[in-house]
Amino acid sequence: MTSSREIQPLPQDNDAIRKALEDAHLPSLLPALAQITGDHSLLRDDLFPESVVLADPQGGLSPEKQAEARDLAVTTLAAWRDAGSVVAPPPSLEQVRGMMDYLIGEHVSDEYLPLLLEELAFADTDPRAPEWSKNGINAERSMRVVIIGAGMSGILAAHRFKQAGIDYTVIEKNADVGGTWFENTYPGARVDSSNHAYSYSFAQKFDWPYHHSPQEVLLDYFSECATEFGIRDNIRFNTEVLTVTYDDARAFWEVRVRGADGGEETIEAEAVVSAVGQLNRPKMPDVAGGGAFEGPSFHSAEWDHSIDFAGKTVGIIGTGSSASQFIPHLADEAEGVRIFQRTPNWYAPAPNYHEEVAEGFLWLLKHVPTYAQWYRFWLFWAISDGFLPMVEVDDNWQPGDGVTGEGNRQLRELLEGSMRKQLESRPDLIEKTLPDFPPASKRIVVDNGTWPNTLLKEHVHLTTEPIERITPRGILTEDGEEHELDVLVYGTGFQASKFLTPMKVVGRGGVDMHEQWGGDARAYLGITMPNFPNFFFLYGPNTNIVVNGSIVYFSECEVQYVLECLKFLLESGQQAIDCRTDVHDAYNERIDAGNLKRAWGVSSVPSWYKSASGRVAQNWPFTLLEYWQQTKRMDPADYVLL
Ligand code: NAP
Repeated sequence: MTSSREIQPLPQDNDAIRKALEDAHLPSLLPALAQITGDHSLLRDDLFPESVVLADPQGGLSPEKQAEARDLAVTTLAAWRDAGSVVAPPPSLEQVRGMMDYLIGEHVSDEYLPLLLEELAFADTDPRAPEWSKNGINAERSMRVVIIGAGMSGILAAHRFKQAGIDYTVIEKNADVGGTWFENTYPGARVDSSNHAYSYSFAQKFDWPYHHSPQEVLLDYFSECATEFGIRDNIRFNTEVLTVTYDDARAFWEVRVRGADGGEETIEAEAVVSAVGQLNRPKMPDVAGGGAFEGPSFHSAEWDHSIDFAGKTVGIIGTGSSASQFIPHLADEAEGVRIFQRTPNWYAPAPNYHEEVAEGFLWLLKHVPTYAQWYRFWLFWAISDGFLPMVEVDDNWQPGDGVTGEGNRQLRELLEGSMRKQLESRPDLIEKTLPDFPPASKRIVVDNGTWPNTLLKEHVHLTTEPIERITPRGILTEDGEEHELDVLVYGTGFQASKFLTPMKVVGRGGVDMHEQWGGDARAYLGITMPNFPNFFFLYGPNTNIVVNGSIVYFSECEVQYVLECLKFLLESGQQAIDCRTDVHDAYNERIDAGNLKRAWGVSSVPSWYKSASGRVAQNWPFTLLEYWQQTKRMDPADYVLL
C-alpha cells in the first residue's frame, strides 16, 4: 500500500494531463488543486457543484462548466509542475472549511467539522492515532489485551494498540487475516459500497482497480495493512476461542483457545476485544429435510470450488446480497438454475458496480497530491447522513403501507422505476420480484442490471412457491412440484444476531453472556455491557448501518472509544470498568425508539437486522455524527469502577 500512496511526478506532456482530465471527478479535483497550489480562488463560484449524489458525480455541472473546470485544471497543473511541483503549506482551518463547503455545496457546520477533518486524513496524517502510550502513563501496570478475530476491525484494533504500546494478542480461527474477505470466496463476491470510501481513513489506497473491487482485492488490502502495520507476529492463526471467563478475584479474563494441533491452553488478559463480526457464522435454512439432499451442497461462505457446474442444474435457496452476486456466475456456467426466493428484495441501481476505475481518473489519483483524500471525502459525504430521511417513519404510518414516509416514497419511486424498466418484457417477473414492503425494511441489494438480466435468461427459473422440504433429489415446493437438482447452494445468510456464537463468555459472578441477552443482544454504544468488565465489542449490537456510512468508519469510532477506556484504566489505577445497568438500559431504550422510526424497525419483513424476538439488534438508527460524538470520549460515570 505504501507504494500505491506514492505520488508520481506530472509529465511534461500537457496533452497527457488533458487526456486524463477527461475522466476526472471534478468536484473533488478543484479542492485538491487549491490545496497544492495554495490558490483558493480556484474554487470559483461559477464552478460550484450543485449537489453531492452518487448518481450525478459531477455535481450537476453543465458540460460547458465541466469543460471550463478541465481547462482551469490543465493550466493550473502545468503551472504547478513548471514551478517545481511544490505542494503549498498546509491550508488554514478556514481554508479547509472553504474547500469542504465547495465540495459538498453547503456550509459545513461546527458540529460536523472535527469529524470531517478526521475523515479527510491527508496523506501521512492519522488524526485518530493515540497521542499517548501505555508506558508513558503507567509502565508498571500489566495491560494485556486479547483481540478475537483478525478481520477488518481486529486488524484496526491491533494497529491502534501497537501504536499505544499496549500488549496485545490476536486470536484468529482462520489461516490468515481478512475475516469476511478471507472466507467469502464465492464467484462474484465484491464490496457493494464505494471502494474508495471502504478503507481505513489512515491507510487510504489510491489505486483501487474498481469502484467496487472484487473479494481478492479487498483481501489483499487488509492483508497488506496487517503486514504494513507490523501486527502479524502477534496473531495466532488457526486458533479458535472456546471460552472467555472473568476471574472476579483477580480481575482478569481467562481466554481458553484451541490451536491448529488440537491442543488447548488458557491465555490471561486484563481486557478482551471481540472483533468477530456480525456476518460470520453461516445460517442454514430452517426447512424440513435439511441434510437429505444427496448431491453436493454448501453455503455461500464455504464455497466448494471443486465443483464444475457445466451441464448441471443448480438450486439456490436465498436471494440476498450474497446470492445476487453469485447467481449470475452460476447462470453463466450451469445448464439450469433454479432460484428459490422467499421474500423479494429492493435493488438499488449502481451503474459503476462492475466498472473498472477509468484510466484517466486512476492516473490523476496517482499524480495529483491530496486528490485521493478529497475524492474519498466526497464519497463519505455522498453516502452519509443525508440518506436518513429516506428511511424515516412518519407518525401516520400504518402496518402494511408500502412506504414509511415522504423520503421513503421518493426512494421507492426510484427503485421501483428502475426495476420495472429492466423487467418490462416480463410482467410475471415484475410480479414476483417487486416488493410490497417499504425500501430498507431489509438490506437493499446493489445491482447494475446484472440481476434482472440473469432472471431473463431462459435456463434461469425463479420460484416463489414456498419450500416444503429438501429431498434426496432436490427441493419439494408446497405446490407439490419436486425440483430435481444436481447441486444445492445455500445463500441463506448468517446468524447475525447470535453475537459471539459458539463461544461461551462468562462474566462477573458467573453470568453467561448469552443467557443475560436471552437471545436479544444489547450493549452500551454497541461496545460494553454490564457484568462483563473490560470486555469490548467491535461491530457489536446496534452498530450496523443501513444507508449511511461504512462499517470501517464505525470500527474506527469503536476502537477510539476502547482506547479511551484503556487509557482511563491506566491513568486511574482502577482494575476494571463495568458498564452501569441503568446507563446501558437507558441507552438501549433510546436505540429501540430510534429504530422504530426507521423502515427496518417497523416492517415485519424477515431480515438479519432483527433477533428472534423481532427487535432490531443490529442497526444504528441515528447519524454518523452522533456515533462519533458518543465514542470520542469515555465518561467514567457510565461505569462501576472495580
Ligand atoms: P441475507 O441477506 O440474510 O439473505 C439470506 C437469504 O436467504 C434471503 O433471501 C432469505 O430469505 C433466504 N432464506 C433464509 N432462510 C430461508 C428459508 N428457510 N427459506 C427460504 N429462504 C431463506 O444473507 P446474505 O445474502 O449472505 O447477505 C448478508 C449480508 O452480508 C448482506 O445483507 C450484506 O450486509 C452483507 N453482504 C455484503 C456484500 C458486499 O458488500 N459485497 C455481499 C454479500 C453480503 P428472506 O429474505 O425471506 O429471509
